[in-house]
Amino acid sequence: MKKHNFNAGPCVLPKQAVESAIDAIRDFDGTGIGILEISHRTPGWERIMQETNQLWRELLNIPEDYAVLFLGGGASTEFNLVPANLMNKKAAYLQTGVWAKKAIKEAKFYGEVEIVASSEDKNYSYIPKGFSIPTDAEYLHITTNNTIYGTEIHEEIDSPIPLVADMSSDILSRPIDLSKYALIYGGAQKNVGPAGVAFVIVRKDVLGKVDRQLPTIMDYRTHIGASLKDSSMFNTPPVFPIFVMHETLKWVKELGGVEAMQKINKHKAGLLYGEIDRNKMFVGTAAKEDRSIMNVCFVMADEYKDKEADFLEFSKSKGMVGIKGHRSVGGFRASIYNACPTESVEALVACMQEFEKMNP
Ligand SMILES: *Cc1c(COP(=O)(O)O)cnc(C)c1O
Repeated sequence: MKKHNFNAGPCVLPKQAVESAIDAIRDFDGTGIGILEISHRTPGWERIMQETNQLWRELLNIPEDYAVLFLGGGASTEFNLVPANLMNKKAAYLQTGVWAKKAIKEAKFYGEVEIVASSEDKNYSYIPKGFSIPTDAEYLHITTNNTIYGTEIHEEIDSPIPLVADMSSDILSRPIDLSKYALIYGGAQKNVGPAGVAFVIVRKDVLGKVDRQLPTIMDYRTHIGASLKDSSMFNTPPVFPIFVMHETLKWVKELGGVEAMQKINKHKAGLLYGEIDRNKMFVGTAAKEDRSIMNVCFVMADEYKDKEADFLEFSKSKGMVGIKGHRSVGGFRASIYNACPTESVEALVACMQEFEKMNP
C-alpha cells in the first residue's frame, strides 16, 4: 500500500532528491566513488558546496552582505550560538512554543532575556500580537512557524533592533523579505533536507560585536569562507545531508521557486483546514488567523473524543503515517511540508470523510 508521510521531521523528501542521493551513494559525480566515501576536498564536492550556496541565494533572494552557512548540530545548537555571537547584555524573545522556550533557556547563559510576549496561557495556540520591542536589547528572536502547535507568523515583523528567526519548519515554504532579518537559522530536516545539518543566513555586519571571547568553532565568522566554495569548510561539513539539500533546492527551483511553493502549500493547507472545519468530528486547535501552512493540528470534537484511537487506526489502514499529534497538544498533526504531495493531503481528507460516514 502507498504510504502518505505526514511526519513532523525528519519527514518526506522530494522523490527525485532521494533518487539522486541513492545514485550518488553508488557513484558521486562520475568519479567511481560514492558520496559517503569521497574527500570533502575533491573538486566535485567544492562545486556542490558552491552550488548549494548559490541556490539558497537565488531562491531566497539573499543579498551579497549575508553569509549562508551549513553547520552540524541542528537548530538546537543555534539556540546557543545565536546569543553567543550576538548578545552582550540583553536580548528579547517572543515565546510562541516549546522551541522558543528552549531557545530562551540557552540565551539565558549569555545575559538577560526579556520575553516580549508569550502565548503559553493558551497552550501556544495563537501568535501574540501588538507587543512592544525593547530598543535596549541586542536582537529580537522569533520562531516563525511553531511546528508542535501549528501556528505561524503570517505578517513580517518590523523590528527596530536586529531580527533573528528560527525558521526550521517554514523556510522555503514562502517568499520572505530578507531585509527585515539579521539572522535566520534552522535545522534542515523539515523542509530542506535530511537531519544532520543546520542552515544559518546571517548579515555579516552583526557579527564580531560581542565582548566575550568565542571558541573558534562557535564563532560564525570562522565558517564564512573567502569564497563560496570555502564557506562552511572550516572543518568537515555534513557532506551527505548537504548533498541531499542541494538536490532538494534544485527541485524547489524546478517547480518555480518559493512563490510556486507557497501557492502549492496554501492549496494543500486549504484542503485540509477546509475539511477540518466542515467535518463534524474534528476541530482545529490553532487560532484561525495564525494557522500554519506547514503543520496542521486538530483534535476530535468533544462528542467524539472516544474515537481518537479509532481514527488513528483507521487512517493507518489507509496508509497515513505520522499523524499522531505531539504529546503537548494531543489529537493529530499532519505536517505538510513542501515535499508532501497534494495527493497525500487529498488522501487524508478522503480518510476523514470516510470516517465521518462510518460514524453517523
Ligand atoms: C525541529 C525544530 C527545532 C529543533 O531542531 P533540531 O535540529 O532537532 O535541533 C527547532 N526549532 C523548530 C521551530 C523546529 O521545528
